[in-house]
Amino acid sequence: MKVKKEKKGDDFLNVISLGAGKQSSYMLLRSLENAFKYKPDFAVISDTGCEPKYVYDYLDWLIWYVKDKYNFDIIVVSAGNIMQDTLDYLEGKRSRVAQLPLKLANGGLTTRQCTFDYKIAPLRRYLQEVRNGKRVRLWIGISLDEMERMKESNVKYIEHYYPLVESQTRIDAIVNWFKVNGIKEPGKSACLICPFHSDRYWQRFKKEFPKEFKTACEFDEKIRKYPKLKASAFLSNHRKPLRDIDFSFHPSLFPELIEECDGLCGL
Ligand code: SF4
Repeated sequence: MKVKKEKKGDDFLNVISLGAGKQSSYMLLRSLENAFKYKPDFAVISDTGCEPKYVYDYLDWLIWYVKDKYNFDIIVVSAGNIMQDTLDYLEGKRSRVAQLPLKLANGGLTTRQCTFDYKIAPLRRYLQEVRNGKRVRLWIGISLDEMERMKESNVKYIEHYYPLVESQTRIDAIVNWFKVNGIKEPGKSACLICPFHSDRYWQRFKKEFPKEFKTACEFDEKIRKYPKLKASAFLSNHRKPLRDIDFSFHPSLFPELIEECDGLCGL
């Protein structure tokens, strides 16, 4: 995809799509120091309700920091808790839930609907409420090393903007910037129960966040007989119960597919 040239005199609402991971947090913080050619009006994060605790801790800090230092607003929107909604669906308490990209015992993969329902739709609902007829320039934090994930918006009132690609910024430069500037560095942001997690991610959670790993294992057990699927469903690429996998044996067998779920997760 080609990076678009600056449009003179345009009248856009500049909105940062925040995921609270490294790239989008860096993009937000740098934008407030005028590092890019536009200035953001506000940032929006779609909360899927089941990010790891360290993501929420970082987000709380970031909301406070940018308000305190720049009087800048981060708006949190949500369509619910994807994990709880899935459990409610499995228990017959709701008639539909957005499908996670589950791994099937027959080698298949279910169609991913979660990104749209829990990340894109709540963001767009909010933008429609506040844009007041303006088009939206939606800032997306994809670094140069992930530029194949860039794509055009599929709605007319939103134009995607990729300042990190435009400024040729790579992930190692981003990590270094947090260190050099002594600014709190975010971790990877994505739903705790995302089937795109690598062995390395699960291995780290098992060791460093055992309570959250246990929650993911329990969820993994509950999805085994997912309604209307022809084969057993799993969270892991190994198509085995999460609890039984020896991650130390092959920590990088399946590479991480996403660094940050920002509405384009898993692409
Ligand atoms: S992080 Fe994973 S589970 Fe969560 S919305 Fe994105 S693709 Fe779906």
